[in-house]
Amino acid sequence: MARRKKIYEGKAKILYEGPEPGTLVQYFKDDATAFNNVKKDVIDGKGVLNNRLSEYFMTGLNTVGVPTHFIRRLNMREQLVRSCEIIPLEVIVRNYAAGTMAKRLGMEEGVQLPRPIVEYCLKDDKLGDPLVTEEHIAAFGWASQQDMDDILSLALRVNDFMSGVMYGVGIKLIDFKIEVGRVFDGDFQRLVVADEISPDSCRLWDIETDRKLDKDVFRRDLGSLTDAYTEVARRLGVMPKGATSMAKPKLIN
Ligand code: 5GP
Repeated sequence: MARRKKIYEGKAKILYEGPEPGTLVQYFKDDATAFNNVKKDVIDGKGVLNNRLSEYFMTGLNTVGVPTHFIRRLNMREQLVRSCEIIPLEVIVRNYAAGTMAKRLGMEEGVQLPRPIVEYCLKDDKLGDPLVTEEHIAAFGWASQQDMDDILSLALRVNDFMSGVMYGVGIKLIDFKIEVGRVFDGDFQRLVVADEISPDSCRLWDIETDRKLDKDVFRRDLGSLTDAYTEVARRLGVMPKGATSMAKPKLIN
């Protein structure tokens, strides 16, 4: 059997060369990391859940006309995506104060913001993904003004879609991060939502109880990450058929 060509390995995913030119296979690992790789663990089944959840959100976005890199899910852990040139920014949209913004501005977590706030961080692990302004982005040429207009519009459309979907299942979308890629069609380029959208990259709180259903469960030792992600998948109706647990089968002696 021929070995696949690995294009890139990140903290939570691996990209392999795809079956046709311009495609990649995105593999979801079970590895969980936080605080720029300082905290690490392997969470059985996380990759399977994130593959399903990201498929669900990306398919929904494609359906409502928000372009993404997602083509189709291949199996439990892999999806076929369009190859794109990732813009080196993390685009964060916030609806409620939390995380680094709450800390930076001395705000209580969970306070609703007057309107969605979009922030940009430079994708650079060595620097800890620092917050940057549009001035930095323009001056250093990480993206053009046209790109920034398109990124802002994409980010807000993703926010509208995701907020609505999550609200429908009793979950508040506190904030999320997306990555944006360039896809080239001949002489033209267009921007698409890339990477993944999953509880690894969103903050999701139960509307009634404020229970956290996202990666903060791991970051802050709040219980079982698998249970939290399974709850999101269950509410959205995207649990794999017949699955009661995402964990690998255990040998019984
Ligand atoms: P914060 O800046 O408060 O840490 O994060 C804001 C939002 O972006 C959160 O939903 C968080 O999960 C997401 N986010 C920020 N940086 C990263 C990152 O490097 N990887 C992932 N998966 N999500 C991130």
